[in-house]
Amino acid sequence: MAKLTFYGAARQVTGSMHLLEANGKLIVLDCGMFQGRRAESRELNSRHPCDPKTIHAVIVSHAHIDHTGRLPLLARDGFAGVIHATPATRDLCAIMLADSAHIQEEDALFLNKRRRHQDEPVIEPLYTAADAVQAVAQMQASPCQRWFKVASGVHARFFEAGHMLGSAGIEVEITEANGRKKVLVFTGDVGRWGIPILRDPAPLPECDYLICESTYGGRNTDAIADLKPKLAEVVRRTVARRGRIIIPAFSVGRTQTLVYYLRQLFTSGELPALPVYIDSPLAVNATEIFRLHPECYDHDAREFGSHTGSILGSRSRSGGEK
Ligand SMILES: [Zn+2]
Repeated sequence: MAKLTFYGAARQVTGSMHLLEANGKLIVLDCGMFQGRRAESRELNSRHPCDPKTIHAVIVSHAHIDHTGRLPLLARDGFAGVIHATPATRDLCAIMLADSAHIQEEDALFLNKRRRHQDEPVIEPLYTAADAVQAVAQMQASPCQRWFKVASGVHARFFEAGHMLGSAGIEVEITEANGRKKVLVFTGDVGRWGIPILRDPAPLPECDYLICESTYGGRNTDAIADLKPKLAEVVRRTVARRGRIIIPAFSVGRTQTLVYYLRQLFTSGELPALPVYIDSPLAVNATEIFRLHPECYDHDAREFGSHTGSILGSRSRSGGEK
């Protein structure tokens, strides 16, 4: 009998982690970081559900830190198995876990300054850049819809979740000793239909057990079709009075959506071609990874890319995006 235990993102948000025991092996689904008040998060993040040395494999649904942020800790504390992910998730993890490690190191520096001042013992960062590199070295990529072996009698495949570049649900098929098969599906975070660049979520596979995210389940959101005309209107108005537009945007996902929309508006002539500058190394690196993964694009993005050469333009020498 397989056994499932929830260690995070259950009756709370962030820290997504589920432990599956199947055919005598421990398999972790997602390994997310708790994000909340500093002291509480540090305590929650330092605790493992079991000795990492005993974990056979990890499967991650997508690269957001609340689903992957504890992978470096797991690797540092002795987990030596494979971390399965889609190709785009693996590549995004390479930059996002490095960024997360940098934040942990900076955070420890900041706290230690204060602690030294108050004669308190210094603390170590939750993990370092070296731990993040180690975790990425253990990642193995499988594209959506291709079965891969996780352990003896346990196979899995990813299916499109439409939530961020590379995001996927996970279908796990467990063949027990008596030959009986059970299917467990973990949705990860599920995206909205019709969001730009990415393909829509795939229909859920048939299953015996379903782990489903529901964070924004009860909320209505603005129609996606209105977003591009609204952006065009703001830019047009600002251009008319020779102004500048500064847009705060998440580095991974939101920035690329904005660049994609602007490039479409420039190409169609709805807006005059304007210089676009991305003032964030993480966002510039993430944009490079979007360029590397056209397999994640929807039909419109592929069409646009084939006409224009690149859906997100090219990187200029000054580091801006054109
Ligand atoms: Zn997410």
